[in-house]
Amino acid sequence: MDYTVVKQNRKTATIVISDNLEVLVKVPRYVTKRQIEAIVTKHEDWILQTLENKKQLIEAKDWYYTKRIMYLGKYWPVELIIQPSARQKVDFTQKGFIIVSDGSESESRQLMEQFYRKQAKEQLTKLAYRYAKLVGVQFQKITIRNQKTRWGSCSSKGNLSFNLKILCAPQEMMEYVVLHEVMHLKHFNHSKEFWKDIEVLMPDYKKRMNYFKQFGQNFMI
Ligand SMILES: [Zn+2]
Repeated sequence: MDYTVVKQNRKTATIVISDNLEVLVKVPRYVTKRQIEAIVTKHEDWILQTLENKKQLIEAKDWYYTKRIMYLGKYWPVELIIQPSARQKVDFTQKGFIIVSDGSESESRQLMEQFYRKQAKEQLTKLAYRYAKLVGVQFQKITIRNQKTRWGSCSSKGNLSFNLKILCAPQEMMEYVVLHEVMHLKHFNHSKEFWKDIEVLMPDYKKRMNYFKQFGQNFMI
């Protein structure tokens, strides 16, 4: 079994399975290699079971396995069509997504990410212009990223950056994220004035903010 030993200032040993399915054996500094092997052997059943459970949880949320993906607040079916010689593309219709690819997992994932990236750029730029006008500020450029947890950010130079996973959320939730970041061009903090100005333009902002806290971890692309 593959595992990584992490020697730490600690009194007891512990085994952790990370989110990317790595087995980490955390032990006190004085523990020998042989002792570590014994710990792993003793807990082998638990490690294998936990790895399997985690893998299933990941696959249960992963559109590539479930064949459904969240887009603009709704789950849509994903159909994969394998056509190595055809032009590789993603089509989105009222029935869902159709991906024409060479059949490889990486190609399909790449195509889907490109679709989200392009949509994110278009839709979030439109919203950013709308809110910048309302707030009375100007931004420089917009970058789309695929991040784990952050939805958006605003630099002191006036650049906005958004997570492409925002496209999983309904339109009104995307609006909140954009307004939040645009408002930072006026207030570079989360002061009372910042929230007051948000509330003026979006009286139900708290509801929208909570949506991300509640459902954000389901957004996967
Ligand atoms: Zn903020």
